[in-house]
Amino acid sequence: RPIVDVHGVDKVYNNGTVALKDVELTVKEGEFVSLLGPSGCGKSTLLRLMAGLGDVTRGEVKWWEQGYDVVGQKGRKLAFVFQNATLMPWARVRKNVRLPLDLNKEKGPETEQRIDQALEMVGLNKFGDAYPRELSGGMQMRVSIARAMVTEPNLLLMDEPFGALDEMTRNKLNDDLLRLWKANGWTVVFVTHSVYEAVYLSNRVVVMAARPGRVIEEVPIEAPYPRG
Ligand code: ADP
Ligand code: ADP
Repeated sequence: RPIVDVHGVDKVYNNGTVALKDVELTVKEGEFVSLLGPSGCGKSTLLRLMAGLGDVTRGEVKWWEQGYDVVGQKGRKLAFVFQNATLMPWARVRKNVRLPLDLNKEKGPETEQRIDQALEMVGLNKFGDAYPRELSGGMQMRVSIARAMVTEPNLLLMDEPFGALDEMTRNKLNDDLLRLWKANGWTVVFVTHSVYEAVYLSNRVVVMAARPGRVIEEVPIEAPYPRG
């Protein structure tokens, strides 16, 4: 079933830049979709609209929850991972992961257990008391994935999450992400300008072009690489 549906969307920024033109895209539950294209083709804009950040100029973005069309924030649970880990440097790893739960005013033993599970999932259960600066770039990125997943979102949106990392760390994190996606049944939309990364990770590659930003092709990927 669909999780999010982008229909006939144009996005024109205030300065007149046409960032997206007539975009159609449906993401179904359990899919790993990549948005692939050169700089400026509107990948981040599309991802942000899917997150409900900012308004469309034309068309609509619809979210589904348990078969119902959801309007507005209610029932929609999504998480965003940015290129930089954006951790609070003054707070220990555990506190960083807890942030979204604090914002939702969730506490108690069940909450602590969810933080443990999130840290365990990304292999950092021994690092809860560390400060971000004590961790490698890849480990910091894994903290930000744990922080995104601690609320158990039904859609994970990732904007070039590993773009700032060296190639070996990036390859390792790609494998980690693939493993987590398979094990946990996540639905992921992943922005990248790497053909290799898009093909390696996704079920479906959405190819975009610039000026104006638009979808030019959708390529299903038939597990070309051994997954797992
Ligand atoms: P990508 O993520 O593929 O690099 P973006 O979505 O960031 O593309 O940008 C698409 C186009 O919209 C680019 O031309 C960019 O300069 C422009 N753009 C992005 N954000 C803004 C903004 N806030 N105001 C004006 N133009 C923007
Ligand atoms: P990443 O690829 O996540 O950045 P690295 O392989 O670069 O991780 O690790 C940097 C350092 O941190 C290495 O010395 C590595 O042994 C250590 N390290 C990374 N993850 C863990 C972990 N889960 N447990 C213990 N040490 C770790």
